Amino acid sequence: MISFYPGPSRVHDKIPDWVREAHRQGILSMNHRSQEFMDLVKKTSSLLKEKLDIPESYSIFFTSSATECWEIIAQSLLIKKSVHVYNGAFGQKWFDYTHRLVPDAQAIPFGPQNELAANELVFRDTEAICITQNETSNGTQVSNKIIYGIRKVNPDVLLAVDATSSMGGIHLKFEAADCWFASVQKCFGLPAGLAVMVCSPRAVQRLEQIAESKHYNSLTTMKEMMDHWQTTHTPNVLAIYLLKCVVKSMSKIRRVEKKTLRRQKDWERYFRKSRSLRLFAGNTAVRSSTVITIQGSPDLVETIKAAGRKKGFLLGDGYGDLKRDTFRIANFPALRKKEIEKLRSFLTTYI
Ligand SMILES: *Cc1c(COP(=O)(O)O)cnc(C)c1O
Repeated sequence: MISFYPGPSRVHDKIPDWVREAHRQGILSMNHRSQEFMDLVKKTSSLLKEKLDIPESYSIFFTSSATECWEIIAQSLLIKKSVHVYNGAFGQKWFDYTHRLVPDAQAIPFGPQNELAANELVFRDTEAICITQNETSNGTQVSNKIIYGIRKVNPDVLLAVDATSSMGGIHLKFEAADCWFASVQKCFGLPAGLAVMVCSPRAVQRLEQIAESKHYNSLTTMKEMMDHWQTTHTPNVLAIYLLKCVVKSMSKIRRVEKKTLRRQKDWERYFRKSRSLRLFAGNTAVRSSTVITIQGSPDLVETIKAAGRKKGFLLGDGYGDLKRDTFRIANFPALRKKEIEKLRSFLTTYI
């Protein structure tokens, strides 16, 4: 079965080799206070910075999931208020989680077909603005340019960006925001259970000011530990090792992005011919590069998903409100050209 589900999805081909190598090298029982572990964490951080174009001055942290990152931001970077600008289920969940810890968190939903206007998003009385760069539930995204725009009109507010299903697939302008995060089971093509959080010097300053230390994963403690390339608890060392391997083997992100965008265009061209199926995001300005969301009648969507499973293709279910009349196709780097061609040839019966 080839998983085109937008996370977890098809993992990198080399995973079995890397796991064997990890076993051979003793990584599976590595002590997380050892020099070898610190070297691994340091190397993984520097590779991430190099390949993804993350500014040298930014700090990298490892957590267990994007969901944990939502909570860490709420508990360690906020005191009173955040603003959540979102158009889908993941942005809404981020708001819901934050709202439980930060009662004045404010939701600002917008339509999935609408492009955000940065100039209309000026917030004076908030500590952070939270944006979902790539809304995995409906296949829309917020461009680097708009994120820059939001930063420009809110120069004193922390900007936090959920890039879970795009980091590693497209070029993100990290310098435009303060807190970015992604779990590894999407564009990195790895098994789930690890996430990367990237913080600007300003975010670090803020966490030090707030100095929240009530939780095992308080960002303050995580920062103190990470200053010595360590973590607060015994982490998923194998996952960090696999992340190191995958990032080491990848091209620089601008090159990866070219491939992602070329494949996205191919999908667009493919579905343009269809009478029964269309891309959910009609507006190209908001269309995701990494999650292709296809809309059709509920009957057809169900038929395609079921027939796909029989033929060995796992397609992503629609999410939330879009459950019945959409399905999703991951456009993540680990998917092979041949697999995509096979999926297209299977879908041709239905378009
Ligand atoms: C998948 C996803 C999450 C949740 O990731 P977990 O690793 O399950 O916590 C959060 N945000 C977005 C945009 C996602 O695509």
